[in-house]
Amino acid sequence: MGLRVYRQKRDFTATPEPAGGKRPRGKGHSYVIQKHAATRLHYDFRLEHDGVLVSWAVPKGPSLDPGEKRLAVHVEDHPLEYGGFEGVIPTGHYGGGPVLLWDRGTWTPHGDPSEGLAKGKLSFDLDGERLQGRWALVRMHGRRGNGDGDDHDNWLLMKSDDEAARTKGDVTKEHVESVKSGRSLDELLQRPGKSWESNGAAEPDVAGSR
Ligand code: MN
Repeated sequence: MGLRVYRQKRDFTATPEPAGGKRPRGKGHSYVIQKHAATRLHYDFRLEHDGVLVSWAVPKGPSLDPGEKRLAVHVEDHPLEYGGFEGVIPTGHYGGGPVLLWDRGTWTPHGDPSEGLAKGKLSFDLDGERLQGRWALVRMHGRRGNGDGDDHDNWLLMKSDDEAARTKGDVTKEHVESVKSGRSLDELLQRPGKSWESNGAAEPDVAGSR
């Protein structure tokens, strides 16, 4: 699908988000979840595939309970550089609000991921800082996109039943802060960009680099 739709939606002179395309398209399998307080809070679930981050917006975030199916709306592909992005998208711009890195790691597809994406049935393992084990993304019946990379098909994100599954608790409530900076969404809003140094573990901030 590529990054055409991603770039159409954004003004890179105004948003700290990366335009992308600088990293060579490889065969990597990085994975990231970003917690994003736009008009409505949601979790952006992204899997690296064919040089982009294939992306879904999950309003309730992931659940470790195999009985909890979470709506995951397929959205436009994002550039690989987006996987390191944390910062504040300006109000009035597409997706305006704070974005923090909620989880990151790698994923391992079961079977051919291109086939799985086309068929609407993707099974994979996650090896993240917060999420592990086997997961599935399954496209719901009904409306199908037109293939322009902005289809908003509805999928379901589900934990498969394994040692990493859990029926008690809510992983999104147990971990609210960034895996990158330790910041909460409120702290990002109050102190965006490079000014944040208080925990001594802060990395160079992508948001402040523009
Ligand atoms: Mn988002």
